Amino acid sequence: MADTETPRMPDVYRARRNLTGKIRRTPLVDSPALSERTGVPVALKLEHHQITGSFKLRGATNAVVNLAPAEAEKGVVAVSTGNHGRGLAHAARQAGVRCVVCMSRLVPANKVEGIRRLGAEVRIVGESQDDAQVEVDRLVAEAGMTMVPPFDHPDVIAGQGTLGLEIVEEAPEVETVIVPLSGGGLIAGVALAVKSTNPRARVIGVTMARGAAMYESQRAGKPVPVTERPSLADALGGGIGLDNRYTFAMVRDLVDDIVLLSEQEIAEGIRHAYWQERQIVEGSGAVGLGALLAGHVEPRGTTVVLLSGGNIDMTQHAGLINGETVVPTEPA
Ligand SMILES: *Cc1c(COP(=O)(O)O)cnc(C)c1O
Repeated sequence: MADTETPRMPDVYRARRNLTGKIRRTPLVDSPALSERTGVPVALKLEHHQITGSFKLRGATNAVVNLAPAEAEKGVVAVSTGNHGRGLAHAARQAGVRCVVCMSRLVPANKVEGIRRLGAEVRIVGESQDDAQVEVDRLVAEAGMTMVPPFDHPDVIAGQGTLGLEIVEEAPEVETVIVPLSGGGLIAGVALAVKSTNPRARVIGVTMARGAAMYESQRAGKPVPVTERPSLADALGGGIGLDNRYTFAMVRDLVDDIVLLSEQEIAEGIRHAYWQERQIVEGSGAVGLGALLAGHVEPRGTTVVLLSGGNIDMTQHAGLINGETVVPTEPA
């Protein structure tokens, strides 16, 4: 796995070749409901229909394909809130590579099971991603495994960037792209690809107000730690890494704005996806919808909303779409 410098467009094109035949090219569909509501053409990138249910398969597959033979032999390991683990487990199994995923106890049960079913070994450690990271570091040091990080790696960012390529190919006139944001691998790759073809397009990140690591870090001018808190957007939890090497700078340079959503606004995104768009989207995947609906993004020009994942517990989903106020409670 090459680990050199900030990814650029040739890396995204190489990632696209690496991913050919291994991932789905997901549809971009018009949203009449949101177009009418906002007064601009709105389209949805249905990436929750990706194999394994989220875009994380793209970055993980690119990283696995780029492993040197000696690395592939020892296997890959990751800390994950779920979707990265699923993506990596699938990518590793496709390539015949061993995979261990470490995660904290905050991760929902459906995500843990999903990863096991994809053939990875799961280790549950501690209360935070930082605790899980300690176990990952041990496996790297003692078993010689290669860590594939969920966002802060050139191969991962370039892999996520293939989504940006698909968006500009199908909607070359796009002026606004709304992207869920946590560690920033997704938005860094997408912004790189979108702005290289369409420099005037706005790329806007959306995250939850509860523990907005990248937002707080950009405000502070350097990576800062945040307290992890339960959220409907559970895949957006966690810090950006105090030793962040790529995504902090790329977000600073390429992203136009970051908006924050309340838990109620995230719930509205999930509900809109279901009742108006007939899509089952997890909280993290629905924040772009929530941002538009709440009026946090000023509608301008052709707008693409990226629906990044669909791995939601179906009991929780049923409650939400039937109007229950399902805001995760803080531990005492
Ligand atoms: C990981 C994830 C995100 C955030 O991606 P980053 O690269 O960490 O910013 C958004 N949505 C879903 C569904 C995810 O799994």
